[in-house]
Amino acid sequence: MGATDRSALRMRPQAACRSDEFDYPSPPDFLPEWAVREGGEWAGLDEFSVLVKAEERTGKTLEIEYHDLPFGTWGVHIVRGHRGLILVNRRLPPYWRRFALFHELHHFLEHTGGAQLWTRTATPLSSFEHQADLFAWAAMRKEWSRCWAHASP
Ligand SMILES: [Zn+2]
Repeated sequence: MGATDRSALRMRPQAACRSDEFDYPSPPDFLPEWAVREGGEWAGLDEFSVLVKAEERTGKTLEIEYHDLPFGTWGVHIVRGHRGLILVNRRLPPYWRRFALFHELHHFLEHTGGAQLWTRTATPLSSFEHQADLFAWAAMRKEWSRCWAHASP
């Protein structure tokens, strides 16, 4: 969507997740119950359904776009007023694009406080990131278990 979103990016230099090159994470040995419950809710939803559900949940409109972001950047989320935008790096393989989408979605869902988000400097970034990863893993695991179930005779 061009200039508007680029200016939004400049206004909110928000969580560009991961600074390393694509270094694909390994699934955690253990997924906490909250992640299984909350992440699992989003498993198997097509993108439109994700948007609808996210809007119902937060009262904000959400858009998802895929761009060639720098290597090492998986995704970015931007919240401005009642609008949210998730950018996912198109350079990622499809599986990891989906992972990045869920990861950013978790940030979007949890940061419903709007302006509050930007002042929460006391919360370690690493814990936000870890939680977003667990949420994403839980969603992915559920999606892929369904795929395997369908593939089985
Ligand atoms: Zn993140």
